Amino acid sequence: MSSPLTFQPVLDRIAAEIEQTPGRGRPADYIPALAACDPRRFGMAVAELDGTVYGVGDWRQPFSTQSITKVFTLALDLAHEADELWEHVGREPSGNPFNSLVQLEYENGIPRNPFINAGALVVTDRLHTQTGDAAGTLLGFLRAESGNDELAINEDVAASETAHGDRNAALGHFMASYGNIGNPVPVLLDEYFRQCSVEASCADLALATGFLARHGIRADGTRLLTMSQAKEVNAVMLTCGTYDAAGEFAYRVGLPGKSGVGGGIIAVVPGRCTLCVWSPGLDGHGNSVAGVAALDRFTTITGLSVF
Ligand code: GLN
Repeated sequence: MSSPLTFQPVLDRIAAEIEQTPGRGRPADYIPALAACDPRRFGMAVAELDGTVYGVGDWRQPFSTQSITKVFTLALDLAHEADELWEHVGREPSGNPFNSLVQLEYENGIPRNPFINAGALVVTDRLHTQTGDAAGTLLGFLRAESGNDELAINEDVAASETAHGDRNAALGHFMASYGNIGNPVPVLLDEYFRQCSVEASCADLALATGFLARHGIRADGTRLLTMSQAKEVNAVMLTCGTYDAAGEFAYRVGLPGKSGVGGGIIAVVPGRCTLCVWSPGLDGHGNSVAGVAALDRFTTITGLSVF
C-alpha cells in the first residue's frame, strides 16, 4: 500500500541539511574497528508497516549495530519468558552512562533497565538460558525480519570487544555475585560481545524494527509480542534507549529510540513506520550526533511523533 506521505523527499531534505552541519562528534574509540569509522558518513532509512523502505546516503552500508541489538534481545526474551524477566531487571532510566557500575550495589545486582550494559547482560543471559544460543537467535530474527540472509556477526569486532571488555566482565561478575546471572560469566560475555558485533544497514534495521510499529506483529504476519509487550518495549526505549540523554532525546525527537556506539539509532512511530539512521560520530553520551539531529528534523518536518 502506498502512503499519502511519501518519505523520500523528506529524507533527501534531511540529508542535505545534515551535509551542511559542521560538528559530527567523534567515533567510539574503545576498539580499533569503530575508531576507524569516518564521522562524515551518513545514512537514513524509513520502513513503512508493509515493508516499503525509503533511504538516503549510506542507508545500505552495513555498520556495527552494538547496543541497538538490546531492543531485539529484550523483545525475544519477553516473547519466551514474559514478565518473569522484570524480576531481574528494572524499567527506570538510570541517569548514568551506559556502562556504569554505580547503581548495582544499591539495587542488589538488579540493573535499572534493559538498555544499559548491565541490564542488557541480564537479558542476554536469560535469552541464552531460554534458547541455548542468544546471539544466534538474535541473528536469525534480524535476518528474517530484514529479509537479508547475509546479515552476520563480525567475529573480528567480537574478538576486539572481548580484548577490551573488562568493564562488561566486571558488570557480569558483579551481578553474578548477587545470583542475577545464570550462565557462566565467560559464556555470557561471549554471547554479549557477539551480539554487539552484528553488522546491518539502516535498511535492514528499519525493517527489523517493524514489529514494534505493528504492535508486536512480525514481517510474516505472526505475532512476536502481545500488544502490551510491544507498548512496554517502546516505552522503555523512550525513557531509557539513549542512556543519560533519554530526556533530551524525547524532547528533541519525541519517539521511542535506541542508539548504539557504532553510530546507529533506531526509532519507532507506532502504527506508522520505523526509522534507522547511521553516522559514526558520537556525543559524550554515546549517541550519534548527526543521527539525533536527523531524527529531530524528521519529526519536526513530518509531525510524526508519539506526542
Ligand atoms: N559493545 C559496547 C559495550 O558493551 C556497546 C555499548 C553501546 O553501544 N552503547 O560497551
